[in-house]
Amino acid sequence: CGIFGVIGVTDASNFVALGLHALQHRGQEAGGIVSHDAEHGFNSARRFGYVRDNFTSQSLMQTLPGPLAIGHVRYSTAGSKGAQIRDVQPFFGEFSMGGAAIAHNGNITNADALRRELIERGSIFQSSSDSECIIHLMARSLQRNIPERMEDALRRVEGAFSVVAMTRSKLIGVRDPLGVRPLVLGKVADGWVLSSETCALDIIGAEYVREIEPGEMVVISAEHGVESLRPFRPQKSRFCIFEHVYFSRPDSIIGNRSVYETRRQIGVELAREAPVDADLVCPVPDSGTPAAIGFAHESGIPYGMGIVRNQYMGRTFIEPTEQIRNMGVRLKLNVNRALIKGKRVILVDDSVVRGTTSRKIKEMILDAGAAEVHFRIASPPTAWPCFYGVDTPQREKLLAATMTEEQMRDHLQVDSLRFVSLDGLYRAVGEVEGRNPKQPQYCDACFSGDYPVEPSDQIKKGFKL
Ligand code: 5GP
Ligand code: SF4
Ligand code: MG
Repeated sequence: CGIFGVIGVTDASNFVALGLHALQHRGQEAGGIVSHDAEHGFNSARRFGYVRDNFTSQSLMQTLPGPLAIGHVRYSTAGSKGAQIRDVQPFFGEFSMGGAAIAHNGNITNADALRRELIERGSIFQSSSDSECIIHLMARSLQRNIPERMEDALRRVEGAFSVVAMTRSKLIGVRDPLGVRPLVLGKVADGWVLSSETCALDIIGAEYVREIEPGEMVVISAEHGVESLRPFRPQKSRFCIFEHVYFSRPDSIIGNRSVYETRRQIGVELAREAPVDADLVCPVPDSGTPAAIGFAHESGIPYGMGIVRNQYMGRTFIEPTEQIRNMGVRLKLNVNRALIKGKRVILVDDSVVRGTTSRKIKEMILDAGAAEVHFRIASPPTAWPCFYGVDTPQREKLLAATMTEEQMRDHLQVDSLRFVSLDGLYRAVGEVEGRNPKQPQYCDACFSGDYPVEPSDQIKKGFKL
């Protein structure tokens, strides 16, 4: 999901709408905005579909006045698939000291247990979302102000969370102690911005200030500016390495590194680790493009657009059902026959999950008359599900969970299939020594099975580490 908040500007909701539009790649199912001003109090609008189709209407935006607003774009991981509007964030709660709205990116790994406990003690849940636990935990806290109630609540929550929240007069941002999901601080005119990614600062002309640090909470108000708190026990950070591979936009900056440059460098690593004699390097657009550029550059093999993407389709995997996902590949991608015919083609993609995309693309490329098809994948085999906010399917559905690299190659019926190594990926994100196995610098659980936070709800449901 994508989260965004602004304080200290006229009509903050307009800025939030633009920010969410720039974060649309993080969630396409639905979006919501909550705003506050002194005269009208809190207002909210939550809608299915793209930001640009909802939050551009003057009549809607006029209902969201005020100098303070937050928003969320949703893609369902936890909670019910086939979304319902009650699952769309931000969530709102009314407390004795006033209201608060929260927008959450990530996944709470003990949400089932918390929900059961809260329901037993009288909480009335409105949604099926894991994020709603935070509001109920805040309601039960005995602290006298909202930021302290939020601290109380978040200390009980396990897993991955970046949160943007607001009260009547404050904008609040928090990252979990491992800093699994991103969150950055920006400055616009006299106001402040919180955003999942820097690309959404650019769209409103905000200046990048810094990242919210793992385990940090910032409370921003007109009177006191940005106050930084440390509600959690310090831990070594474990940022999601897959944000670098796929999830973030290539024009964002993470940890002072350009996401584009990292992806290009993964392609360089791949070309060194798994060279192959061929005529053409083609990206599977758009997610494979920077790595393909790096691969072509390093190998000296010409780069070409062998597959062309229809720009009017969204990301295939952020479609909730398998059937839609299956259709999605053909609706979105087509082969450039004139370029492919007779050539030995290297296809570069960011990841193989179920193998659906790769299988269809291989068929299309062979139908177009390619002489050979070689897959090069810019991440290690995805063999484990993510429980921290990226929607990977159950373990059984992951190709790499049941097959070796050889078996996957045979299954996809391609001439060769190679994945970048975990160390190669770490080198590409700037860890020259590769992965430190004693103390991994990132979360890489979907590749390694090394889960930095025990997925306790899943284990109770029978998931085996
Ligand atoms: P597959 O078709 O192998 O299931 O999915 C791989 C394609 O989906 C890749 O082209 C990739 O861009 C995209 N994708 C990337 N990350 C994920 C993820 O976490 N889950 C899913 N289902 N697809 C992803
Ligand atoms: Fe990111 Fe993978 Fe860890 Fe999930 S399991 S947080 S996708 S690295
Ligand atoms: Mg893709």
